[in-house]
Amino acid sequence: MSAPENREWVRLSLLEWYRAHRRELPWRKDSDPYAVWVSEMMLQQTQVATVIPFFERWLKLFPDVNTLAAADEADVLHAWQGLGYYSRARNLLKGARAVVEQHGGQVPADIEALRAQAIVDGNVIRVLSRVYALAGDPGKAAPKRRLWELAEALVPSTTPGDFNQALMELGATRCTPKRPACGSCPLSGECLALGRNEVERFPETPPRAKTTSVHMLAAVIEREGRYLMGKLSDQAPRWSGMWQFPNAELEAGQSSESSLKATATRQTGLQVAPRGLLSVVRHNVTRYRITLDAYRCEVESGEPVPGGDFSELRWMTAEETAGVALPKAHAQIARVVREA
Ligand code: SF4
Repeated sequence: MSAPENREWVRLSLLEWYRAHRRELPWRKDSDPYAVWVSEMMLQQTQVATVIPFFERWLKLFPDVNTLAAADEADVLHAWQGLGYYSRARNLLKGARAVVEQHGGQVPADIEALRAQAIVDGNVIRVLSRVYALAGDPGKAAPKRRLWELAEALVPSTTPGDFNQALMELGATRCTPKRPACGSCPLSGECLALGRNEVERFPETPPRAKTTSVHMLAAVIEREGRYLMGKLSDQAPRWSGMWQFPNAELEAGQSSESSLKATATRQTGLQVAPRGLLSVVRHNVTRYRITLDAYRCEVESGEPVPGGDFSELRWMTAEETAGVALPKAHAQIARVVREA
């Protein structure tokens, strides 16, 4: 087959299969393009079963693109809390604002236009790498560019949403990382990896880097029933716009007490005294296995001045911490504070 013929064949086979075999999922109940768009963003990097409750809650909070466009970024991040990869939430908000500001009144059509783009998530990378036996680490520039070119060449202008969903669905239900179900795959007739009996060779993702343990400390600074929280600035390397308890990595040879005191002073301008361990949170971020010890701290002197990655500080009641966006580990500490 020539390249255009092959693309047309892949497109049609995939769409036909999808229409016959697609799973019933909340965003497939009707064809609201906004709902499907939200689901596509959530499904990049996150499993279907995890996405469903977030998706349903999101649509209650932001039922249409206008509501989302008018929302505060803080509320959008809060609604996304727990899904991780927060740039997806920011991109959704940015996209919604662009649709409303630049094309007011034509919202559904414009969202279709936004969705006419190809999506390259983990499932899509796997399917395309196998069908076209693409060599090279898909995380590197040249293979990544090739994948995008392929995905863009494949996505049809008439039903882009269905096609993106179909590719992701195939990756999730047939072309799985281990033991893919090639026998019931609509693309088996043209799949180069299958033809060469090299299915599990693709994608050529390098083995995961070894995990690294990190010990962190958080200062839960309390004054008159309120807790001092810092808002991460736009320049923060992670979680910008979200709130945290002051925190830092415990350096080798440093005591918890001196680290907490130094962190509090650097990030909040306050001199504090640690008053005992409140909670230990274990979580993973990429290859890091993080142990975060949260200590109650009392203010000894000083006035709050934001420092480090914080652009703002705020004394919050325990209940108020439930109303702002916090990275998962800090949300867990906040829950302990509320329940204490
Ligand atoms: S034939 Fe197998 S390897 Fe090829 S796309 Fe289908 S499930 Fe994946």
